[in-house]
Amino acid sequence: MQSRQLKLVHLVTILCLSVFAYSTNSIAGQKNGLLKIYFFDIGQGDAIFIETPNGNQVLIDGGPDNKVLQELAQVMPFYDREIDVVVLTHPHADHVAGLIEVLERYEVKNIVQAKEDYNSPVVPVWQDAVKNEKANEIEAIAGKTIELGNDVVLKIIYPKESLEGQTVKNPNNSSVVMMLDYKNTEIFLVGDIEAKAEKELLNDDIDADILKVGHHGSKTSTTVNFLEKISPQVAFIQVGAKNRYSHPSLEVTQRLEGFGIRYHRTDLDGHMEVITDGETFQVKKY
Ligand SMILES: [Zn+2]
Repeated sequence: MQSRQLKLVHLVTILCLSVFAYSTNSIAGQKNGLLKIYFFDIGQGDAIFIETPNGNQVLIDGGPDNKVLQELAQVMPFYDREIDVVVLTHPHADHVAGLIEVLERYEVKNIVQAKEDYNSPVVPVWQDAVKNEKANEIEAIAGKTIELGNDVVLKIIYPKESLEGQTVKNPNNSSVVMMLDYKNTEIFLVGDIEAKAEKELLNDDIDADILKVGHHGSKTSTTVNFLEKISPQVAFIQVGAKNRYSHPSLEVTQRLEGFGIRYHRTDLDGHMEVITDGETFQVKKY
C-alpha cells in the first residue's frame, strides 16, 4: 500500500511539473534552443544556476552567504523576481545559507530537497523560510524527474529512498544528486557526496559529459571508480580561494588530470558558463 501511495505521489509531481513547463513554454517561447548552466563564484560552497531554452530557471544551492544575490543579478533581468525551481542538495551552511536570502527576495515556485533531519543552527531558519515561501515542495527521491520543457529534464539519482524521519550525522552522503539531461548532453550534479554514496551509484547510468565535482574537490570524494564511470570531458570545482579545508585536494586534481579531464575552479577562474544546444557544448567566462 505504501509503495502504491508513493508511486501516485511521483506521478502527481511529474504531471504538475509537466503542465507547468508546458504553460511556461507557451508564454516565454523558445530562446534559440540553448541551455545555459552557470557555476557561480560564491566562495567556499556551491551555487549553480540553470536557464532552459524556454526560459525556465533553476537554482541548485545558494552558497554560504548573500553573494549569490549578486551572481543572480548578473544572469537574471532586474525585473525578474521569480525562480521556477530551487534545489537544496543538503543542509550544510555552505549550500543552504545563501538560499535563505534567495527565498526572502525571490518568489520561488518549487523547492526540491531530501527530508533528512540534521542538527544545525541554520536548519530551523531554512525551514521557516521554506514555510513562508508557500512553494510547491518536492521530496528528492531517485526516479523522480523534473520536466523543464524542450527536452530538458532534471533526473533525481540520489538519495535512493525517502529519508523522512532519519537524523543524519553527515549530510554530505545524503546529498541530492541529479543528472541534467538535454538531448545528447548530460551534466552530472553530485552535491557533496563522498566515497560511500558514490559506491552506491556505480551501477546506475551516470555517464556524463560534464561533472560538478563532489564536495569542492575534497579527497573524500571523486573516487577513481566513480570518475571512470562518469567519464566526463570537463569538470567544475566550486571552491573558495584559500579555504581552510585546502580544497581542492591535490589527489583529486591529479586524478582528473590523469583521466585527461579538463577542469575549472571557481577560486582561480571565477564564475563560468556552459552553453549547449544538446549536441555540442561550449565553456566560457561571462
Ligand atoms: Zn559543501
